[in-house]
Amino acid sequence: MPAAMNLDKLIRPNVRAMQPYASARDEFQGEARVMLDANENSQGSVGPVAFNRYPDPLQRSLKAEVARLKQVATEQIFLGNGSDEAIDLLLRLTCVPGQDSIVILPPTYGMYEVAAHLNDVRVERIPLTPDFHVSADAIDQVLASSAKVVFLCSPNNPTGNLLHAAAVEQILRGFGGVVVVDEAYIDFAGAPSWTTRLNEFENLVVLQTFSKAWGLAGLRLGMAFAAPALIGYLNKIKPPYNISEATQQHALAGLADAERFAAMRQELLAGRAWLAERLPAVPIVEHVFPSDANFLLVRFRPDATAVYQYLLDQGIVVRNRTTQPGCAGCLRLTVGTASENETLLAALQQFSQ
Ligand SMILES: *Cc1c(COP(=O)(O)O)cnc(C)c1O
Repeated sequence: MPAAMNLDKLIRPNVRAMQPYASARDEFQGEARVMLDANENSQGSVGPVAFNRYPDPLQRSLKAEVARLKQVATEQIFLGNGSDEAIDLLLRLTCVPGQDSIVILPPTYGMYEVAAHLNDVRVERIPLTPDFHVSADAIDQVLASSAKVVFLCSPNNPTGNLLHAAAVEQILRGFGGVVVVDEAYIDFAGAPSWTTRLNEFENLVVLQTFSKAWGLAGLRLGMAFAAPALIGYLNKIKPPYNISEATQQHALAGLADAERFAAMRQELLAGRAWLAERLPAVPIVEHVFPSDANFLLVRFRPDATAVYQYLLDQGIVVRNRTTQPGCAGCLRLTVGTASENETLLAALQQFSQ
């Protein structure tokens, strides 16, 4: 743990002082003969499935499986209603509204800034280089900042690249606040997760999600991995029943379907390679950025927004990133099915003629 780090000092005083909500299911866990403690409906539920009991607030069964898969301790896991919930809770845990700040490295994921604005937290922007890496100068600026949290997105959205491990490590060693490494796309990357280094850094939070490689974006389930002390604080402030029983059950079933996970991942990696190989030959394509994610950032000439509009007219929706810092002329293309990728490529070739 770096000398600068003191977890308790990073936590808002009101959060340190407060008593968390004690739910009925916190006080009694398990199956009793008669459950009359939580004002549930003992008769059952409307609809086809019984959901009349409140879910486990700490998602113990699900965390046991996640712990096994990720090779971490259950005390190092927080589950959120999407990783977006973890982002919001991390800000509310550490940043005093109207006073504290976070650091982001644009171009990057938009939710960090939205969560900051919602919480009246100032945003310090330290841009990535033109090829979307963290320069030595940027590292110095992060280390000099008194912000409470820095968000490092790796692989980065919308650019697709992993940040260099040496830069992340320098920030972990020298920054005085919480270092969040957002690994929403790690399953598509050729690098180990920072969860493998969790025991070395008390200020490290790794975010992952079921929304991308697991194909469960509609379920809303995100993961945060950190030292038990920090996870304890997240548990203290989270809404008591933030993960529904339906989500917990469905995620458990999904985790048991490792074969499908592996097959989809292989297919998406093959689709990414297929597109990355063919896109550079399309005349309007100026550059395809290297990607460790399930999407490609592509620079078009002379007018990316015209390409975007043309694709829309063909019923193909991609993400226009032309107004993002460093992303002039760029669209973000998600890798789809083989047939969707073919449709996309054919439309781009058509537009080029
Ligand atoms: C998609 C994405 C997420 C996932 O958010 P959820 O709330 O878990 O769906 C998180 N971070 C980044 C950078 C993403 O692109």
